[in-house]
Amino acid sequence: MEELFPLNSRFCTRRRALGLIAGGAALALASRGEAAWKLVTLDGQEYVTVQGIKEFYKFTAVERSGATVALRSARLVLRLRSGSQEMYVNGVKFMLSLPVTSQGNDVLVSRIDLSKLIDPVLRPSHIAKGPPFTTVVVDPGHGGHDSGARGVFGNEETYALDTSLRLARLLQARGLKVLMTRTRDSYPSLPQRVAAANAAPSSIFVSVHFNSGGSNAQGVETYALAPQGTNRSRKEDNENDAVRFRGNSRDSENIALATAVHASMLYQLKAVDRGVLRDRWFLLKGIQTPGILVEGGFITSPAECAKIHTPQYRERLAGSIAAGIMNYRNALRRS
Ligand SMILES: [Zn+2]
Repeated sequence: MEELFPLNSRFCTRRRALGLIAGGAALALASRGEAAWKLVTLDGQEYVTVQGIKEFYKFTAVERSGATVALRSARLVLRLRSGSQEMYVNGVKFMLSLPVTSQGNDVLVSRIDLSKLIDPVLRPSHIAKGPPFTTVVVDPGHGGHDSGARGVFGNEETYALDTSLRLARLLQARGLKVLMTRTRDSYPSLPQRVAAANAAPSSIFVSVHFNSGGSNAQGVETYALAPQGTNRSRKEDNENDAVRFRGNSRDSENIALATAVHASMLYQLKAVDRGVLRDRWFLLKGIQTPGILVEGGFITSPAECAKIHTPQYRERLAGSIAAGIMNYRNALRRS
């Protein structure tokens, strides 16, 4: 597996000596090779078959058990379930734009999920991109008059700022430049944050937040901008789904960055996995650099807020985000 999923993950440890996904024979889906795919149209949507995915990405086995399908290779396990929008790659949860479906003996995955999610996640080194980024724009959510979510032991703005400052220091120690949208308890407007990101050349953007929900809600979420023509994860409406935003020019990098950071948080923190999700947050719509929004846990949960309240946990969280950013950088560089 390429480095979006750390090699020391529980799925890969014993198999690291084996090859990467064979990329040489595989043709870029966006440009060539589509004739190799069997396309099925259902309700106006195009789908590819799981068998096609197996062959294109050189999976060695397909295991079916009821509605569940697992594709396996030396370094990857991809799980899907007919009727579900959930996909797991090496244990990391993703939300597909459309549910997996079936026709006859074929299990089908939408073409948009193949090109906008599966392909960049499985083959990050094939993403068309410019030179590697040198700067990370770190955006501590909320601040000033906007306290963000109100937690059991403190507010989101405070935790986000502290975690972001730690992240900035860790990234600088790894040789990256860091630009912060705020370094104190102030409130840059959302357009100001977007402008800061877009003014930084060769950069990526990471917005740090903490979540609110019921007192039992736990876990981390990582958001990338929803691709044009898709639903937002967990939302029923189709708001703006046909509009192409500036941030959509970086769809592949966005999802690859989200995957690397999310996998790193899960593996390092043993956090509850709420998934790599897509939405149309103002920040992500407007930026022209690869960008994500991280929800580092639920501060409305007494148990989770107790952890987040400790500097040690915030340091580990920042460390896992930094490691994910480096994994992303390395994974894209290979080609
Ligand atoms: Zn927030």
